[in-house]
Amino acid sequence: MIPPFSAKNYDLTSFAPARNFIGGEWRDPLTSTHRMDVINPRHGKAMSTVTMSGADDVVAAVKAASAAVAEWRGWPMRERAQVLYKLRELMLTNIDELAWLVCHENGKVFGEAKAEVEKGIECVEYGCSLPNLAAGNQLEVSRGVSCEVVYEPLGVVAGVTPFNFPLMVPLWMLPQALMGGNAFILKPSEQVPLSSLRLAQLLSESGLPKGVFSLVQGGREVVEALCDHPGVKAFGFVGSTRVGKAVYGRASMQGKRALCLGGAKNHLLVVPDADPELTAENVVASFVGCAGQRCMAASVLIAVGEVDHILKSVREKAAKIVAGKDLGPITSAASLERIRGYIDQAEKQGAKVVLDGRSAEGVIGGYWVGPTILDGVTMDMPAATEEIFGPVLSVVRVGTLEQAIEIENASPYGNASCVYTTSGDVARRVIARVDAGMCGVNVGVPVPREPFGFGGWNDSLFGHGNITGWDGYRFWTRQRKVTSKWAVQKDATWMS
Ligand code: NAD
Repeated sequence: MIPPFSAKNYDLTSFAPARNFIGGEWRDPLTSTHRMDVINPRHGKAMSTVTMSGADDVVAAVKAASAAVAEWRGWPMRERAQVLYKLRELMLTNIDELAWLVCHENGKVFGEAKAEVEKGIECVEYGCSLPNLAAGNQLEVSRGVSCEVVYEPLGVVAGVTPFNFPLMVPLWMLPQALMGGNAFILKPSEQVPLSSLRLAQLLSESGLPKGVFSLVQGGREVVEALCDHPGVKAFGFVGSTRVGKAVYGRASMQGKRALCLGGAKNHLLVVPDADPELTAENVVASFVGCAGQRCMAASVLIAVGEVDHILKSVREKAAKIVAGKDLGPITSAASLERIRGYIDQAEKQGAKVVLDGRSAEGVIGGYWVGPTILDGVTMDMPAATEEIFGPVLSVVRVGTLEQAIEIENASPYGNASCVYTTSGDVARRVIARVDAGMCGVNVGVPVPREPFGFGGWNDSLFGHGNITGWDGYRFWTRQRKVTSKWAVQKDATWMS
């Protein structure tokens, strides 16, 4: 039993150790004795520990999941949905508690953490709606002959998730996978394994049979064992491009279905006719929100022509953000060093630091970078092309819309792109040409709300389709095509 998290503010609060959840029981790894601290990044201090499992724990989890899925797949879909309805109810009842847990293990401020839980609930709601959406098609294809499509489970499937959304990203995968009749094994980020403990607990309280949801805590060894195990039929991953591409290759080589979402470098194009107030507010929310640790965060602002009045307003609004109150910490000491490194390097290469967050101090001992704006960034600087994953905005200046689109499209990533304009013509021209899967018009974090699926292009996604929405259901199921004839066929076709 994992009790509710007791914190009601940002004070350092400890939580249950992150163990494995296999066959409906909390277990320690079979052989590995390696544990790591789970750090609250606001304080830079441990709030729990996580077990680092081995390949033998993956074998045990797949075995328990295989046994459980035999019964679960036989549940009618509407009965499976009842579990998700109950989960939704429990998440709503415990929404503040879940948000505080996200806050503490990840560092987000409370409002951001609550928004994460709300988005997770929206994903569960999509799962609840699947009995109304997932009726397969049926057609009389010839006189007395019908064809039908039935969505069948794959069996045991697995998901691997990143540090930046400890509760929401698992819920990008889980509802569709469970509704599809599969057993799901989650390997959360070892940096933030605690929300998944509460998720396991709430799923159990919702009536999910033992073994249908498992947790295997750990890092690379667990991920590779999940890729390699022949009993895991599909593999979902969300994380960096470097790891996503490698595990996509590894899982695919084993003949598995794989969908791996990677990193990003998102561009915001600002043109002179943009609404100054709306644009400035939205740009700041995009690059500072969640301390810039979102795959959808603004990273490069391409200033097209004379937009200094808007940039001035962006700077003024960003300067008012208070680290610790409006802005959470960076996830780790290593990330802090990486982000500061990008800022230092861009400055050395000639960029102007018009807002400098390097000395931000929220709570002594944690990891903090305040909102930072680099102006005059050029495309030869790493700050213009590499994923910084912090609250840093690189401003690149160009003369024409054409140059802006060229810069956007030269990026190997393709997650998100946004244009700020009051002109329908400019919006249409940009959106039709940018090489990105999720586009915004005056929306700097253009996350598609359910039921629209989430997924980027190019080096931001390996595999096919989106991870949420209907594509998610398709990913975690396979189609059986049934052709039936119950009477003598009354027409003569090649089917007879
Ligand atoms: P990460 O790639 O370091 O880790 C992701 C997961 O992979 C973790 O569970 C980790 O344990 C595991 N892992 C780490 N190294 C591994 C290795 N060598 N082999 C196998 N598994 C390994 O990512 P992160 O730092 O946790 O998350 C931040 C990254 O995730 C950013 O690049 C961000 O853009 C990306 N992200 C992308 C999306 C998206 O939808 N495209 C969403 C959220 C985060």
